[in-house]
Amino acid sequence: MKAALITIGDELLSGDTVDTNSAFLGLGLGELGVRVVARFSVPDEAAAIVRALARARSEAELVITTGGLGPTADDITLPTAARFLEAELTVDPEQARRVREVFARRGIRMPALNENQFLRLVGGRLIYNPAGTAPAQLYTDENGTLVLLPGVPREVVELWRVGVRDALSQLVGADVVGRKTTLRTVGVSESVLAERLERSGLTTRLDEAGFALAYLPGHGIVDLRLTAFLATDDAAAARRFSTLERELERVVGSCIYNRGRGTLTETVGGLLRGRSLTLATAESCTAGKLGKWLTDPPGSSDYYVGGVIAYSNDVKQKLLDVPGDVLAEHGAVSHQTAAAMARGALERLDADLALSTTGIAGPGGGTTDKPVGTVYIGLAQRAASFDSDRDRPGPLLNECQRHRLHDDPTGHF
Ligand code: AMP
Ligand code: MG
Repeated sequence: MKAALITIGDELLSGDTVDTNSAFLGLGLGELGVRVVARFSVPDEAAAIVRALARARSEAELVITTGGLGPTADDITLPTAARFLEAELTVDPEQARRVREVFARRGIRMPALNENQFLRLVGGRLIYNPAGTAPAQLYTDENGTLVLLPGVPREVVELWRVGVRDALSQLVGADVVGRKTTLRTVGVSESVLAERLERSGLTTRLDEAGFALAYLPGHGIVDLRLTAFLATDDAAAARRFSTLERELERVVGSCIYNRGRGTLTETVGGLLRGRSLTLATAESCTAGKLGKWLTDPPGSSDYYVGGVIAYSNDVKQKLLDVPGDVLAEHGAVSHQTAAAMARGALERLDADLALSTTGIAGPGGGTTDKPVGTVYIGLAQRAASFDSDRDRPGPLLNECQRHRLHDDPTGHF
């Protein structure tokens, strides 16, 4: 089944509010085996809403709107949809009782405007809202199903949980399931990954199987997302998905840091905790960001001991014992300085591992030798930190070196 989403509200187009409802619904529908084929965001204007409804209904059997179900004059989704569907509106006694009760519980008089929220599309049904006053409206005719949801994200989530999900799941039937796998990678660019998959022939095989592979690049990381909609009774397709999923993991290799759960720093934290290792940082160009990322996950004090923000050469010398002649000879932005910073942090902060950063962040300060964006990352480790070669961070770092620091593949760590 195909779905189209319409998010309604001036604030979504002006940029004041980020449309999170579409993302939430897209994920939820995917799990039900429903493919979202179009998304529209329109202002609180009847003509725009009608145009979007007509487009959406021409493209999908299921159309879901969010927003514009409030009691005020700018909330026009329900009467506009009623006109579009040529459906009447009627007072739903149970809904009226619930809205009145919300006000009674708070001990305030209900404004007459809220009577707009007593209404139900004739021929449709309501799912009552446990988190607000506007219910979900569900309406099915020969052109498909239309679902109207309020705009407040928490109410969308609650309505989905208490009934919308089940209602749609029944509508979709059990004949299709959505499968999804996410491999989160670090240290390789999306084009390098694409080349690797291309060369292995995997891209073609995924295409032939009708599975979709998306490259979702972030800051230094790329998520690879494999998705498919499979017929429930097609065991061969399910097996094919599992086989290609494993194949994908094998081809992508050691730059995978997890399978869709958690951030990079959570994964790093988990690895450190699991091995009872501690980490310190010495930061120049990142000026504390590394420490901030490392301490984002709760419980990071189990492994992160602290760091030094050594922005000036003076601080690099005084607090990290970077030798003056290393700075004089190679400069602050050099692999020698990065290494000395990491060693200094390891000793001074008494950790098992220490990471350092030094680079030219820009906009000024770049040279032909060291253009803006040049960054050296140092890693120092106590020899006794690792029980076996398996535990050494070598493979991942080597991979990063090959792809990101290819101008000097040996000397940066
Ligand atoms: P409404 O139901 O249109 O009165 O919307 C109520 C509030 O929900 C608005 O003030 C927005 O802050 C928020 N909202 C509406 N639509 C969305 C959306 N698509 N994504 C995130 N927030 C939204
Ligand atoms: Mg609104």
